[in-house]
Amino acid sequence: MVMKFILNIKNKKINDEEILKDLKDIFKQLNITSLSMKDYDENGKYSSSLVSRRFGSWNKALKQADIPCRQEYWTVDELMLNISSVWVSKGRQPTRRDMNNKTLSRISSGAYLRKYGSWYKALKAFVSYMKDSKDGTSYNNKGQNAPGHKTKRDINLRLRFKVLQRDNFKCCICGASPAKDPSVVLHIDHKKPWSKGGETVLDNLQTLCEKCNLGKSNISE
Ligand SMILES: [Zn+2]
Repeated sequence: MVMKFILNIKNKKINDEEILKDLKDIFKQLNITSLSMKDYDENGKYSSSLVSRRFGSWNKALKQADIPCRQEYWTVDELMLNISSVWVSKGRQPTRRDMNNKTLSRISSGAYLRKYGSWYKALKAFVSYMKDSKDGTSYNNKGQNAPGHKTKRDINLRLRFKVLQRDNFKCCICGASPAKDPSVVLHIDHKKPWSKGGETVLDNLQTLCEKCNLGKSNISE
């Protein structure tokens, strides 16, 4: 019996130097302050996951290649706001993959994984963040900013998300939704205008698309 030794190209071991050289090349070529996994995946020869595996982590690989590591310091509010905007544009719970879609999400899933350990845990953090205050309403301090109002005009993130969720991320007039048509932008509208004494509370708020919202203000003003 003759044994055949066939070289499987896929499994051919790429040496560390080749990888480091490619990291350096791409880093130089892109002329950026640090090299993200996403940037490398779009421009590099190898995959960022292969590089991470080989060197233990992405940051360790960068260190070996003498590329400065970028620390992403996002505040919890920024992280949560970003999930909420992706959630709204998809009209459903975002996946890890949605987070890596640059047009949808300005913070990549990596930042969430570093902070929360897993995407599922990040979503859990988001849900409890949104539940934090009872109904999301922010009340005025004795009406100092807005005489005659119990609430502030600004609709905070929690309340905004509650309204969107209640309205199924769709315009209450025409039903348009960014999940179906990415060009649709949803606004939160005071049913009774704030300027006419309407309060910033769930019952007085509704989801409208930009078109219907503009149409509404043309009629009422
Ligand atoms: Zn509409």
